[in-house]
Amino acid sequence: MLFNAMDKWWGNQGKRERPHEGLDLCLYRDREDRILRLDEKTKIPALYDGVVVRVVDDFIGKSVIVEHRLPGSDNSRFCTIYGHTNLPRGLHVDRIVKAGDILATLARPNKSQSNIPPHLHISLGWIFNEISYENLDWDTMDTLKPLKWVDPLQVISRHFL
Ligand SMILES: [Zn+2]
Repeated sequence: MLFNAMDKWWGNQGKRERPHEGLDLCLYRDREDRILRLDEKTKIPALYDGVVVRVVDDFIGKSVIVEHRLPGSDNSRFCTIYGHTNLPRGLHVDRIVKAGDILATLARPNKSQSNIPPHLHISLGWIFNEISYENLDWDTMDTLKPLKWVDPLQVISRHFL
């Protein structure tokens, strides 16, 4: 599902309450040109160097929020969020990560979510309202809008897709 999409791509394919805050990745093409599904063995790397600032529940698994200080960005805080994941024991808030470090694996939707295929949700955004990370979760991100979302496809290199 693409950034800002209003339609659900699984199940009854109804409408979303809000535009999609990121990008959903479900299928990929391997080097032999096969189309494969992401599954619980899928390892999820950090897109950039940063610090884990928050781990919150989402409707399938956990969402990991990583803060990045990008060169030339005036100390603005840029965050990447990796949703629907399972975290390894060692991953916690304040953990410093390098681009490419494995943050998590993909979470499996529970039995009542059998119409939802495993997928990775990626959100990218600038923190532009003051909010402490302890108060950041999907509810506050939807209501207080502390992040100005960016379309991941405009940022992530095709190499990753
Ligand atoms: Zn999503």
